[in-house]
Order: sequence, then structure tokens, then C-alpha cells
Amino acid sequence: MHLAIEQVAKSFGPVVALDNVSLGVGAGEFVCLLGPSGCGKTTLLRIIAGLLTMDSGRLILAGRDLTQVPARLRGFGIVFQSYSLFPNMSVAANIGYGLKLRGTPAADIAKRVNDLLALIKLPQIADRYPWELSGGQQQRVALARAIAADPALLLLDEPLSALDAKVRAELREEIRDLQRRLGIPTVMVTHDQEEALTLADRIVCMSKGRIEQAGTPADLYARPTTRFVADFMGVSNLIQPSTLSALLPQMMQGYPGGDHLLCLRPEHLAVRPGTLGKVVSTTFLGNITRLKLDTPLGMLVAELPGQASFAPGDGIDIAPDPAHGAWVVA
Ligand code: ATP
Repeated sequence: MHLAIEQVAKSFGPVVALDNVSLGVGAGEFVCLLGPSGCGKTTLLRIIAGLLTMDSGRLILAGRDLTQVPARLRGFGIVFQSYSLFPNMSVAANIGYGLKLRGTPAADIAKRVNDLLALIKLPQIADRYPWELSGGQQQRVALARAIAADPALLLLDEPLSALDAKVRAELREEIRDLQRRLGIPTVMVTHDQEEALTLADRIVCMSKGRIEQAGTPADLYARPTTRFVADFMGVSNLIQPSTLSALLPQMMQGYPGGDHLLCLRPEHLAVRPGTLGKVVSTTFLGNITRLKLDTPLGMLVAELPGQASFAPGDGIDIAPDPAHGAWVVA
């Protein structure tokens, strides 16, 4: 592991923000810390950055213990949610700031700044000031500044959340491309599951100061292990084993017993005319139609490709695909 976070604990008075969290980040890996407000993800990122001290635990980077090393000596690049560019400096001066502090010769800085401006696709703005840039452009510059000095780790604290949806989607793609191309190990905090699914090699889903589940995006979406993760990663359709065994016994395979529910993603629920339940509402979303269904298994959500030929009040049967259910701890 490039970075090892070992048994990190942090409390604020009576509030346990991190409860002995351990996590590794591989070389070149993009890890997203995902979870609802208050789960501890920002605290963990700030501890990794060195902006906050931990109560106990260790941080090891490439074999070196960084636990006591101050933020400015860790050599990490950081991008925050709100644009944190120096307002009184040009774009070029902002991007070259860290290199200048290190004593890099001016000509080398100028070349690096130009290369980075090309990389973030803003070659013409070196002499502009932050207030002359859009929010998306400012975040691109903040990203260029963060990677200018070849950081050992890139830390992103909800860098896209202040941007509008279209710019956010564009910049998401660019961050992804850039991170892949440069291979910088990256830890990003987000509360947006779609963002985590698109960006991460590995998602670390957190709840109440603990890691609830960590795995690839496909893992967390298709094979959540707890109800919390199932709900957080999308529409979960959680079904009780008792109703399932009575109505759809073929779906009981793999039931681990006890306190488990079956999670069925809406795209794996085939719907046809029938008598089991009723369509409550239909929502056309362009590429799919979302149906809300009232069934003896509970209220379920199904998503059918294109424009579905169902209307509210229609009687339906459902045929879930047994290959796609996940048993989660209730
Ligand atoms: P958000 O998305 O809202 O930032 P988060 O998942 O990043 O949430 P943290 O900011 O890490 O969560 O906070 C974890 C817990 O620690 C919360 O209960 C929060 O109120 C508490 N906390 C965080 N920072 C402080 C602080 N400086 N003083 C007191 N409590 C704090």
C-alpha cells in the first residue's frame, strides 16, 4: 500500500468522529470516501492532510510514518470545495506557488505552469485573476495548483459540489482522465454516490465514524452487505424473506438466514401485466421509465428501458432476476 491509515480515532468532546478506522490506498488508486453528512469523511481527509491531529492511530506513506509530520511537509496536493485560490495572485502565480516556495527556477516554473494550463484545457488564462474566472475554471486551476509539485497524494474535499450540474459532470470526467493519466494516488470526499461510482477505483462507504463497506463501485452497487450501503448506493427495494418465500420462492436461494433482507436493484425487476400488484406512478426519464409498484412484497421501484407501456392503476406481476439479488444485513 502506498498510504496506510492504521486504527485512526478522533473525537470532538463526546462526539466520536472516527472510530478506529483503517484503510489503505494503493499506488495510482482513486479512493472515494462516501457517506452522509456527519459520517466522519471530512475528518478523515483532514487527518490525512495533516490539518487535524488524530487522537490515536498512525499514517504511513510509502513506509514512512507521517503521523507527526506537519501538513506543509507532507507534500500532498489539496483541492477544497470552495475555491481556495489566492485572490491577489494571477492564475500562473497560483499554479506556480508551491514550486516557487521550493526554490524552483522561474523558467522551469513558467514551463510547468504552461504544461499544466494545457493539461486543464485552459491555455489562455495565465495572466487572469481568480475573480475573472467561472467556478469551473477556478476549480480547474485549483487542481493544477494541487498537482503542480508532483504530490505524493492528491486530496479532494468535495471539489465539485459548488458547481452546477453540467460543469460538475464535465469536470468529473476531466478529473478522472487526469488522475488516470498521471497516476497520482487520490482520496476524494463526497456525499454523492453517482460521483463516487463514476470516479473511484474503490469506494469506502462510511457511517457514524466507521467504514461500513469498502470495494469497487460494482461491488458496492451489486453486492452491498448492509442495508445502509444498499440504501446509500441507489434504490434498494428491500424485501422480507417471509413474503419472498411465500410469493417468489425461487428468490430465496442463498438466504443466509436471520436478520437479512433481499436487495433488488430496480433495473433487475421485470414487470408484466398481471394480478400481483398495481402500478402507483410512472415517471419517464428519457432513457428509462421508473415505475412505483404497490405489491404484497412492499412498495417497489422498477426501471424499464425507454418509454414503458404501463399507466397508474394497471395490474402487474413482477419477475426479479435471481442472479441479481443481494442479501443485506437489516
Ligand atoms: P459533512 O459532509 O457534513 O462535512 P462529514 O461526513 O464530512 O460531514 P465530519 O465533518 O467529518 O463529517 O464530522 C464528523 C462528526 O464530527 C460530526 O458529528 C461533526 O459534527 C463532528 N465534528 C467535526 N468537526 C468538528 C469540530 N471541529 N468540532 C466539533 N465537532 C466536530
